[in-house]
Amino acid sequence: MTFIATTEEELSIKDVGGKGFNLIKLTKAGFPVPEAFFITAKAYDAFAEENELKGKILEIIEKVDFEDPNSMQKASDEIKKMIFEAKMPDKIKAEIKDAYKRLYGAPPLNLDFVKPMDAPFVAVRSSGITEDIKGASSAGQYETFLNIKGEENLLKAVQKCWASLYTARVIYYRHKNNQPQDTSICVVIQRMVNSEKSGVAFTVDPRNPKEGSNHIIIEGCWGLGETLVQGNVEPDRYLVDKTTGDILEKVIGKKSLEMVRDPMYGITIQRNVLKENVEAQVLSDMEIVTLAAYCKKIEQYYNYPEDIEWAIERGKIYIIQTRAVTTLEEKEKTKEVEGTPILEGWGASPGAAVGVVKIIRDATEVWKITKGDILVTKMTNPDFVVGMEKSSAIVTDEGGVTCHAAIVSRELSVPCIVGTKTATQILKEGMKITVDATHGKVYAGEIAIEMEEKKGVEIKTKVQVKVNIAFPETADKAKHADGVGLLRLEHMLTKTGMHPIEYVRQERGEELTKIILDGVGKVAQAFYPKPVWVRSLDARTDEFKNMKGGENEPVEINPMLGWHGVRRSLDQPEILKCELNALKRLHENGLTNVVWELPFIINVSELKRAKEIAEEMGAPSNFGIMVEVPACALTIEDFCKEGIAFASFGSNDLTQTTLGIDRDNENLIKIFDEMHPAMQFLFKHVIEVCKKYNVESSICGELPSNRRDAVEFLVKAGIDSLSVNLDAIDKVREQVSELES
Ligand code: PEP
Ligand code: MG
Repeated sequence: MTFIATTEEELSIKDVGGKGFNLIKLTKAGFPVPEAFFITAKAYDAFAEENELKGKILEIIEKVDFEDPNSMQKASDEIKKMIFEAKMPDKIKAEIKDAYKRLYGAPPLNLDFVKPMDAPFVAVRSSGITEDIKGASSAGQYETFLNIKGEENLLKAVQKCWASLYTARVIYYRHKNNQPQDTSICVVIQRMVNSEKSGVAFTVDPRNPKEGSNHIIIEGCWGLGETLVQGNVEPDRYLVDKTTGDILEKVIGKKSLEMVRDPMYGITIQRNVLKENVEAQVLSDMEIVTLAAYCKKIEQYYNYPEDIEWAIERGKIYIIQTRAVTTLEEKEKTKEVEGTPILEGWGASPGAAVGVVKIIRDATEVWKITKGDILVTKMTNPDFVVGMEKSSAIVTDEGGVTCHAAIVSRELSVPCIVGTKTATQILKEGMKITVDATHGKVYAGEIAIEMEEKKGVEIKTKVQVKVNIAFPETADKAKHADGVGLLRLEHMLTKTGMHPIEYVRQERGEELTKIILDGVGKVAQAFYPKPVWVRSLDARTDEFKNMKGGENEPVEINPMLGWHGVRRSLDQPEILKCELNALKRLHENGLTNVVWELPFIINVSELKRAKEIAEEMGAPSNFGIMVEVPACALTIEDFCKEGIAFASFGSNDLTQTTLGIDRDNENLIKIFDEMHPAMQFLFKHVIEVCKKYNVESSICGELPSNRRDAVEFLVKAGIDSLSVNLDAIDKVREQVSELES
């Protein structure tokens, strides 16, 4: 792969970002997607390396005070300037120019007799490698440039997209979500659809995912979709029945503005909509139904609810992008209050709150918000995230259910009402109000709002559905799971910036124990008495290299199959001893729900040795094991005889070691099949043997979070529990319940 990728290639999110990845998939599946090419993460990395940017960036960010907006803004300005002014390597420039030529079918060489064609307009969209991933939308965080024309303008826009990796709000978002700051970014170059109408569609009602799972919601406006996404117009809203295709509801909005390409100057302009169109229906009924049919097909293709951007140019429908709906948690509902609201709008994120109004005119005022205030504004912008997070509710004048404000408030679980038209006029600074975002109503003063009793009981399944956790902070959000089937220690430890072994070298083992104790303790407390399975440190030698003390790590040619997991823990028992010390203290403190598990184990002797160490220390020695290598799966009976608390498939590694495929090699994704017959054989074998010895069998790789066929197979094979990612708990539970009924 070079710095450029086309829709022909098999690529991963790491190469072309979430947006690019989805566009490639859609194109291959035959959906009407505008022609595009992609500037890969490798291009940004090469650019950053050539200009030695990453080190300089981290140095600047290290000094940021995340409580101080000015400090964040200053760092951002400095980094963006650095990226924008750095020189793009000639090779990358040449490849971009060449791909741009090919996009409109111009011959790659300058041929005699052939006149150069007029360069086409393109949309230049950032495609983040952590963006648009299930469970972590960073909707609208990076920048997009529309109606770009000509090679030099294109190169500038690309560099601006790269720079948008470090806007203040993105730096803050990554910090809040514990994502690394030295990340990468891709860029999608897409033929510009000069749309007369456009908008967004959801294949589920995001305000009410369960009851709304049979609805498709379409929102539309005139011109480019930007006005809608940014919440600058009140769009039309159509509701379509997903089974019959019937249009159930049409709410015609007041669309006074539109963004279009200026026919004279070729730039994007915002202008007033013709009077007769302001309150006219944007999509014809035929267009609504056809678009809904496309949306249904896209959802079927992904087997997951999708959030889709679409555009219509000269009557033809285009799919501009799609991403998984990231917020499908069913929220507690509020009972409707009797009384007269002072304001009504569209409940975009359900829930209720009482608080004091703070009117925010632009991002510079966001810092007025203190915890619990109600953020009232014309329309939120991604720059508002810091204030949105602190507020107890959000009320806006403009916007629809699919605008970024709505998406972000749902992800933050902050009740939000959009499209009230007059919130900033009717609500006054300092006024106390009650917001009932479930019903889209605002009341003066403080009103008690009752929670509606939950319908039915939460689904209980025989096969337990547990959760995988990497950050202790996530535990509170995952408490509805039946336990933690995998708590990874690596992320807890990287935060300190020092390699765990360096603690040992410096004889600071007690500090290491304390970090583990605190992190695991938080999770164990949140889940008590449900079981929490903690995996013993499983960092490969290449993973912690950049941490302090990591420079002493041995260089391995194949770290995946190298010195990690239990084999390393037994060679360097000091770290294991710190872990077991933490385990011992947790049990002493009554948190007896914590069990330790040993990764990448292949010999019973390893289990025996770990037990001896635990016993010598007086720590619990009933270990679980991770089944990640066929050697372990095929000799599972010996492990059961020796005595284990449970056996959990690490299917990510087990696939790698069974199929002989490096799990991180993007060229081999197409054959990385976690349900290969050999895998099915190993799953069945281990589950059967565990049953015989009354040992709990489980799985904690990505497989059950992503594949329904795997859940069905494992449940039918008799597995005792499945451990999945946070956003997959409900959907997997529902499937298990269906399989059990
Ligand atoms: C696995 O291998 O499936 C697993 C859960 O461990 P990791 O992905 O951390 O290697
Ligand atoms: Mg593993």
